[in-house]
Amino acid sequence: MARIHNFGAGPAALPEAVLEEARHELLDWKGRGLSIMEMSHRSQAFGEIAAAAEADLRELLGIGDDYAVLFLQGGATTQFAAVPLNLVGDAPAADYVLTGSWSKKAFAEAGRFTNARIAATSEEDGWRSIPARAGWKVGDDAAYVHITPNETIGGVEYHGVPDVGAVPLVGDVSSTILSRPMAVDRYGCFYAGAQKNMGPAGVTVVGVRRDLLGRARADTPMAIDYTKQAQAGSMLNTPPCWAWYVCGLVFRQLLDGGGLEAMGRINQRKAEKLYAYLDAADFYGNPVDPAARSWMNVPFLLGRNELDAAFLSEAEEAGLHGLKGHRSVGGMRASIYNATPEAAVDALIAFLQEFAARNA
Ligand SMILES: *Cc1c(COP(=O)(O)O)cnc(C)c1O
Repeated sequence: MARIHNFGAGPAALPEAVLEEARHELLDWKGRGLSIMEMSHRSQAFGEIAAAAEADLRELLGIGDDYAVLFLQGGATTQFAAVPLNLVGDAPAADYVLTGSWSKKAFAEAGRFTNARIAATSEEDGWRSIPARAGWKVGDDAAYVHITPNETIGGVEYHGVPDVGAVPLVGDVSSTILSRPMAVDRYGCFYAGAQKNMGPAGVTVVGVRRDLLGRARADTPMAIDYTKQAQAGSMLNTPPCWAWYVCGLVFRQLLDGGGLEAMGRINQRKAEKLYAYLDAADFYGNPVDPAARSWMNVPFLLGRNELDAAFLSEAEEAGLHGLKGHRSVGGMRASIYNATPEAAVDALIAFLQEFAARNA
C-alpha cells in the first residue's frame, strides 16, 4: 500500500515510523499480552508511559519544574473555556489579540466566563497580519493576554513572542507546538490539541506556570481544573491513554532526530521553498503579510478560482491529499507540519508548476 502525501490541517500526518511502532505494539505491549488501549490508566505500565512522555516533552520544549504539564481531554476548544475559568481569579477582565478564526473563537468563548476585551485585531485587513505590538491595548488589570501564535486557517504566525510585561501571556499553540524551539518561559500558560503536530486527536497538552494555579473559579468542572489535574497527574479521571502514548512516540522520535532546533531548520526550509515558488508564479497567490507567514499552514489561491475543483481532484490523483482550504475561507491550504516531509513539499511544488503550465 502506498501512502499519500498528506497536507491535511488536522487530524494531520503522523510520522510513518511512529505509526509502524504503534502497530507493532498494538496487540501486545512489550510482552504483556495486552494493548495499551486495554490497560488501566492506574497500572504501573501506563504510569511509566505517561511519565516518559511528559519528561520527553519537557526536554523538547525546555519546560522547567515551575510549570505543570497536563494531558487533558476536550481539544483546544475546551481550553477556550478552561483558560478563563482557571486563570481569571479576582481580575476584572482578560485581553485577547485577534489574528484569525481561532483567536476569535477563543475570545468569544472567554466572553461567556469573564469580561473578555479585544487588545488588538487584524480583522479589518482580512486576517493577513499580526497587529503591531505598539498598538495593543493591554490593561494592567488583565488576568492575562491571550494570543494564537499560529492561526491554522489563515496561515498567520508570530515569529517571536510579544512582550506583555507583567501580565501573563497565554498562547494557543495547537498548530505550532514542536515545529521549532519555543520560549516557554515567556508564557504563563500554553495549550495545544495534539492532532496537528503531536499525535492523534483526543489529547490536549496544557503547560501552566505553577504560581498561576489555585485561582480557578469555584464552579470550574473538575476535569478541566488545572490545579486538581496537576495534583492528580492528569488522572483525576481516565486520561486519553492511547493518544497520550502515541504522542510519547512522537516526542521520542523528535528527540532522537536532534530536537526542535533541527526540526525548526527543516520546517523553515520547507516553508521558504513553498512561499518562494508561490511568489514567483503568477498563477498562484498568498495574501499574508510576508512578515507573518506561517511555517505550518500555507494558504494559497489559484489565479483562476473556477479551476479549484479540477485542481483538487488532479492533486488527489497525483497523491497530494488534503489541499482544500478551510470551508470558511476557500482556496487552498497546504499544511506542512513536522510529519510532512520535505519530499512532499517538493512533490507539491512540481505539481503546482505542472498544473500552472497546463492552465495559465
Ligand atoms: C485545530 C485548532 C483548534 C481546535 O482544536 P480542537 O482540538 O478541534 O478543539 C484551536 N486552535 C487552533 C490554533 C487550532 O489549530
